[in-house]
Amino acid sequence: MLADLKPRRKNLVFDLVEEAGYDTTDWVESFKRAAGYKANPKYCYEWGYVQPGRLIILNLWHSNMVEEHGQIVHRGTFRADAEFRRLNGAKQQWVDRARRLDGALQVALRENLPVRVIIVDGDRREKEAVDGPSSRVRCRELDPEPWTITAYDWDTGSCELTRGILDGRFVDQFDLEQTSKSGPERREVTTSSFVRDPAVRRRVLSRAKGRCELCGEQGFKMASGAVYLETHHIVPLADGGDDHAINVVALCANDHRCAHFGDDREEIARKLHAVANAFSDTASRIAVVH
Ligand SMILES: [Zn+2]
Repeated sequence: MLADLKPRRKNLVFDLVEEAGYDTTDWVESFKRAAGYKANPKYCYEWGYVQPGRLIILNLWHSNMVEEHGQIVHRGTFRADAEFRRLNGAKQQWVDRARRLDGALQVALRENLPVRVIIVDGDRREKEAVDGPSSRVRCRELDPEPWTITAYDWDTGSCELTRGILDGRFVDQFDLEQTSKSGPERREVTTSSFVRDPAVRRRVLSRAKGRCELCGEQGFKMASGAVYLETHHIVPLADGGDDHAINVVALCANDHRCAHFGDDREEIARKLHAVANAFSDTASRIAVVH
């Protein structure tokens, strides 16, 4: 699957962004030599394109993508990349481009915009070679499938992108919190006093597949089409519990409250341990034994 996505043709960026639905009016108008507008340097060297209210487009290296459980995933931290470049004296334009990629993700999250990806392949500059020659793209193609931002850490910029629209994707209270972080009224979720690993929450939510791991009921469907459950640490982090899939379950909102405040919360914790244990793989067990 991943090999099939390797781009074989060298298309013009202009043609690809236009194909994705990006408004290229300024691309044409801000360029004096009208005939060469497709090579407008104001645009064609960018790594990402943002059209507020409509979509974002990211240039992603095929070599940075991985295949996991039948899905194509790209992980990275454009913000950290920008910072690395800045600290190592890279050209300012490279720092700015990496920063703008991070900014594009935030716009997409805030406005719930579609994410399109131009998959690129070629001679990639080593990250360490900050003053070396530019990377050289040999092939680029627009992925016909949209992508989904499946995890984003607003504090660090660490991001996971997954190919495809994850219809009925699973979200929890922290996704809501992150979305609202950018809104005018910043909502605090009282139970979220610890930094959690987004990958753990993501793993648990996909394990639960939208069903409460205590009562088995389907989480409610949100206006966005996503299914909502709350992730819960069986042994609280404050009591030394691990931020690991073996100690985390996905619960319906009611059972989540019960797990914290119900008179049977100890009995609930026993059941939840059994659930999380049953699903955990060998690696999880090892990780928790240390
Ligand atoms: Zn439940």
